[in-house]
Amino acid sequence: MTGLPEADFYGFESLLTATEAAKLAQLRGFLAGEVAPHATGWWNDAEFPAHILPGLAALGLAVPDRRHFSHLFTGLVVAEMTRTDTSLATFFLVHHDLFVQALIDFGSQDQKERLLPDAIALRTTGAFALTEPEHGSDVAGGMATTARRVEDGAGATHWVLNGAKRWIGNGTFCNHMMLWAKDADTGAVRAFILDASLPGVTRTKIENKIALRTVQNAHILLDDVRVEERDRFSGIGSFADTNKLLRSSRISVAWQAVGQQLAAFDVARAYAVERRQFGKPLASFQLIQGQLVKMLGNATSSLAMMVRIAALQDAGGDADATMAQVALAKAHTTAAMRETVAMGRAILGGNGIVTDYRMAKIFADAEAIYTYEGSQEVNTLIAGRAVTGISAIV
Ligand SMILES: Cc1cc2nc3c(=O)[nH]c(=O)nc-3n(C[C@H](O)[C@H](O)[C@H](O)COP(=O)(O)OP(=O)(O)OC[C@H]3O[C@@H](n4cnc5c(N)ncnc54)[C@H](O)[C@@H]3O)c2cc1C
Repeated sequence: MTGLPEADFYGFESLLTATEAAKLAQLRGFLAGEVAPHATGWWNDAEFPAHILPGLAALGLAVPDRRHFSHLFTGLVVAEMTRTDTSLATFFLVHHDLFVQALIDFGSQDQKERLLPDAIALRTTGAFALTEPEHGSDVAGGMATTARRVEDGAGATHWVLNGAKRWIGNGTFCNHMMLWAKDADTGAVRAFILDASLPGVTRTKIENKIALRTVQNAHILLDDVRVEERDRFSGIGSFADTNKLLRSSRISVAWQAVGQQLAAFDVARAYAVERRQFGKPLASFQLIQGQLVKMLGNATSSLAMMVRIAALQDAGGDADATMAQVALAKAHTTAAMRETVAMGRAILGGNGIVTDYRMAKIFADAEAIYTYEGSQEVNTLIAGRAVTGISAIV
């Protein structure tokens, strides 16, 4: 493999500053040493590697650390983590881009002081609980979990939560989750910091997954859970606030689709160069080269799209990427990813079916990226609404 070009074929990484490039190299060292040798085993055993969290935290990639860096750097961090292990990247995104980001954007001073230091250092972990058993794509209008406000007298207030949440990443082991509910009296959207150990919270691991087996998802039941007023996100009152968080985490998921394709290309190319059939390397057959070039083209067009999204984010203000631009990126990169990983899996033949050769894991994990953070189809419809002025979602 020596002498062959990097999967970042147009060298987008050269747009990073020297400091950013050094930090990315540090992350790569951590991933190569602490994650890559074990990632398939963790996946097979559906075991979350909590022991690597101190090392991950020491890299200084938490939300507050990242404000000194470009959005391109942040995106490449996500892509690079995904390239090594999609589950680890997903853990990182749920914790940082959703839970920690929510605390920073919407938390009170008291909430930040109580929770941020441990969350940033990964001494505690967080989750984001929005989806419900009966409401996924339509959760904005259909949320069934309720929060009932109770006056305790003397001006004190608490809330009583009832309902269920499903698919909550990190949900089996996290300390806290940002939990969304509908106000039982007014119908307004409310969000809370839920301490996962509170009485009335039941968390069950979703078993038998074919994707992201390392990072665990919970089915959560809430039975008269008492949450204090100080644990409510008082600045959140509508689904527009949810969308602020989802816009940036959706960008990160599109970066995951980039990383997933780079991983598929890495593995398929190495295999095709090495594996011989009919007395020649697979890579010498035109059909195999055609597929490798298609995979690289998909990965490169996805990467180029995300580099532009990152530039829009860096510009900020009115020039920042719109939800429709982000939806198009998520729809395009995940559709391209599905084609890319399927070709990669085919190039490995039978060995593409077992996780020992990595590709089967890459292929399966892609399905989660395709569906979460708004499915590929729903993001297509968000972009479709923007370009036609007509909503086909409902
Ligand atoms: C591995 C994994 C991790 C996740 N992590 C989290 C998490 O941490 N927190 C959280 O809150 N949620 C999480 N989710 C939930 C995820 O966001 C939902 O799965 C997703 O929004 C889709 O909802 P659904 O699964 O209920 O599918 P549905 O909404 O039931 O959709 C089923 C199918 O119908 C399609 N569809 C739905 N509506 C339309 C429409 N109007 N037009 C055309 N097609 C449509 C969808 O695209 C999909 O193909 C996770 C999911 C997975 C699989």
